[in-house]
Amino acid sequence: MSLPPDRLNRFARHIVLPEVGGAGQVALAEAHVVLVGCGGIGSPALQYLAGAGVGRLTLIDSDTVDASNLQRQTIFTPDDIGQPKAEVAGAWVRRFDPALEVSAAVERIDPGNAARLISGATVVLDGCDNFATRLAISDACVAARVPLTSAAIGRFQGQLANFAGHLPDQPCYRCFVGDAFDADDCDTCAADGVLGAMAGLMGSFAAMHAIRVILAGVSTLGDPQLGQLQLFDGLAPRLRSLRIAKDAACRGCGGREE
Ligand SMILES: [Zn+2]
Repeated sequence: MSLPPDRLNRFARHIVLPEVGGAGQVALAEAHVVLVGCGGIGSPALQYLAGAGVGRLTLIDSDTVDASNLQRQTIFTPDDIGQPKAEVAGAWVRRFDPALEVSAAVERIDPGNAARLISGATVVLDGCDNFATRLAISDACVAARVPLTSAAIGRFQGQLANFAGHLPDQPCYRCFVGDAFDADDCDTCAADGVLGAMAGLMGSFAAMHAIRVILAGVSTLGDPQLGQLQLFDGLAPRLRSLRIAKDAACRGCGGREE
């Protein structure tokens, strides 16, 4: 695949980077990102993934736009209140870059539909707001051997990691959080609050992590840093990085071998 002149111009600032280059831009154009959650993390992540020319985007969110979302969910305006987030986000992508292929699913991911919804993904970016959905996505990614970029925020804390639990010695998201949160009772944004700019920062960071996965084996930015947790403290501010261990007894990835 080569890029036509108008695309070369649109992505010139990527292509000139040795860490991305023409081959990297082609890989982005051929990639399929499944974005779960079009909210605080998903909105800015989507803007930078679409801006990066990710050729195919699947947007999943069962929620509708509420006035209280506008403080941090950057793709929505007051005209969108009451509309399904996934559909509004899809329309945003079509306006932004008609060359991208986008589909919207107004569905809530659960263990029954996760495999279908993530099918064919190069990478899944999870910015959803509850542990039950996160675990369902993680288990489906391990089963389908699809890498997962997982990002979360609360108040002034952000966390981010790339996972590939289908690989030997690589943890999955379930190795990280355990089984305690399968019950859907951990949605903390509404109760605890979150600074809007924190969502922007972690959403952009998540888009960059997904791009690392897409560029793996293509260009030097393609170091996915699998199993390496990034913890951002927005109050200090400070970034810490820790290695997550694979749990041999994990229900999601334990006992699976390459
Ligand atoms: Zn695991």
